[in-house]
Amino acid sequence: MRKKVIAGNWKMNKLASEANQFVDEVKVKLPQSDKVEAIVCSPFPYLAQLVEKAKGTTLAVAAQTMHYEESGAFTGEVSPEMLADLGVTYVVLGHSERREYYNETDETVNKKVHAAFKHGLTPIVCVGETLEQREANETMDHVEMQVTKALEALSEEQVANTIIAYEPIWAIGTGKTATSEQANEVCTHIREVVAKLTSKETASKVIIQYGGSVKPANVDELLAQSDIDGALVGGASLEPASFLQLVEAGA
Ligand code: PGA
Repeated sequence: MRKKVIAGNWKMNKLASEANQFVDEVKVKLPQSDKVEAIVCSPFPYLAQLVEKAKGTTLAVAAQTMHYEESGAFTGEVSPEMLADLGVTYVVLGHSERREYYNETDETVNKKVHAAFKHGLTPIVCVGETLEQREANETMDHVEMQVTKALEALSEEQVANTIIAYEPIWAIGTGKTATSEQANEVCTHIREVVAKLTSKETASKVIIQYGGSVKPANVDELLAQSDIDGALVGGASLEPASFLQLVEAGA
C-alpha cells in the first residue's frame, strides 16, 4: 500500500516570520497517521530554520530546486550537499516554472536526480504537458519522454524511491484542474512507463503525485484515483488551514 504524499510548494512566497508561523501552527496539528507524509517546499533562506522547527515532528522540509554540482564557481546556486547538511530531506526538481524560466532541461533534471540520491535527498520530479501538447494529443508521449530521461541510469531501488509529480502546465495556478480521470489516466501511463523501464514491482512502489490547482474541494476525488498517491500543491498550500485539510485528506 503506497503512502499519500502531500507537498506544499510555496514557490517565491512568504517572509521568514510567516514561514516560521506556518510551521509552528501546522506541526502540532498534523494528523498522526503513517498513511500520509506532509512536506513543505520552502524558499532557500528559511530551510535551516524550518528544519530546526520541524525536528521531532512528522513534517518534512524540501527545497524547490538545487544545482547538480557539489561545489564550485556557480554564483547564486545551492548544492545538494548543502541541503543535506541542513537536514533537508526532499527536493523538487524540474518544476515547469524552472523549465520555462531557468533553462531546466531533461538532462539537467536527470543529473540533479542522481545528485539528490548521492546525498540522501528524495527527488520530487515534475513532468507535464502544455495546453498545446494536450490539444495535439501529445500528452502521453511527452510525459513518457520526460519520465524516461529523468530516470536514466538510476538503479531500480532509486527509481522506487523517486517521487514523480504529474503537473499539466495548463492546470498550474490557473484554477483549471485536470478532471480526476484525466489526471489518473496520465498517472497510470507514468506507472506503466516506469514498469517498462524497471519492473512492475518497482513501478508499484513509486509515489506519483498530481499537481495543478489542487485544493481542499477537489483533493478527495483526486486521491481516490487508482494511481494518484498525493499532491504537489501551490496556491492552496500557503494557508495553514488549507494545507492541513489537504494532508488530512490523505490520512
Ligand atoms: P497550483 O501550483 O497548486 O497553484 O496550481 C502547483 C504547482 O505548481 O506545484
